[in-house]
Amino acid sequence: MMNRIALLVASLAMFDVGLSSQTITANTGNRITILFDAFTNKPELTADWGYAALVEFEGKRILFDTGNNAAIFEANIKRLRIDLTRLDLVVLSHRHGDHTSGLRYVLSVNPQVPIYAPADEPFNDVIPPAFLTQSADANLPTKMRYFGGKIPAPPPPHGTAWPGVHVRSVVGTQEITPTIHLFSTLAETPGFRDLPEVSLVLDTARGPIVVVGCSHAGIENILSKFVQETHRPDIYEVIGGMHLLLSTSAQVDHVVSELADRYHIQRVAAGHCTGEHMFAVLEKRFGKEYLYAGLGEVLPL
Ligand SMILES: [Zn+2]
Ligand SMILES: [Zn+2]
Repeated sequence: MMNRIALLVASLAMFDVGLSSQTITANTGNRITILFDAFTNKPELTADWGYAALVEFEGKRILFDTGNNAAIFEANIKRLRIDLTRLDLVVLSHRHGDHTSGLRYVLSVNPQVPIYAPADEPFNDVIPPAFLTQSADANLPTKMRYFGGKIPAPPPPHGTAWPGVHVRSVVGTQEITPTIHLFSTLAETPGFRDLPEVSLVLDTARGPIVVVGCSHAGIENILSKFVQETHRPDIYEVIGGMHLLLSTSAQVDHVVSELADRYHIQRVAAGHCTGEHMFAVLEKRFGKEYLYAGLGEVLPL
């Protein structure tokens, strides 16, 4: 019986490949809704710098980033009639305020939702024990010793913008379901060196879809690391911010060539810090596979 079901699922999956994206969305409900960004064609929504998106994929509802401003995020959520009380998890791609500021509003309507973020200082809820357990110089006066030499047990919590909220640290690759993973990278780019960032990978019949926040490590480096570590060279789509705002035309052209010629990305839905020039170059290169991804758009996955 199981074999017959597996065969049926496999043949349906093969059939899916020939269908349009819209049909797939209608059939599966897999989609991403852009909840926060600085460009839109929907005047009823408020544009602001930052990123947030609701990913609905294989029955899971994932909030990826939370925007730049909790009040604007709340207003857009209400306009779009998004129910944040029904979420399986929240992903904070990285520590920057234009991705984390709406978390306050999310927690006000859904205080128990699991939150995943990079292993990074703003999300830690404990002070590293090694800070407090160093072997002290025997002659060091009590007044120079942390807590007078008597370390409280348990150690005091690390200060956070979200007191009492436990954030799960993502290190390396973390499985949410067999077809949903979180993938962390460390930036080496000037200005962002050592900034950890988490991307979301959705495994679809067409290949992996990579959802990125700001790509501070460089989108081409994120894809390179993903392919090296997963041996999945068939990435289908990239969605989100690619941080090429301040890049030269030559740098933009290089990244587009990496996406299209090296990684054979089939589709892009660029947003946030990708940059207006990069939007134009991507649209030219990808044609109808460049999906407009402004605030309020609902895109098939
Ligand atoms: Zn950003
Ligand atoms: Zn950022």
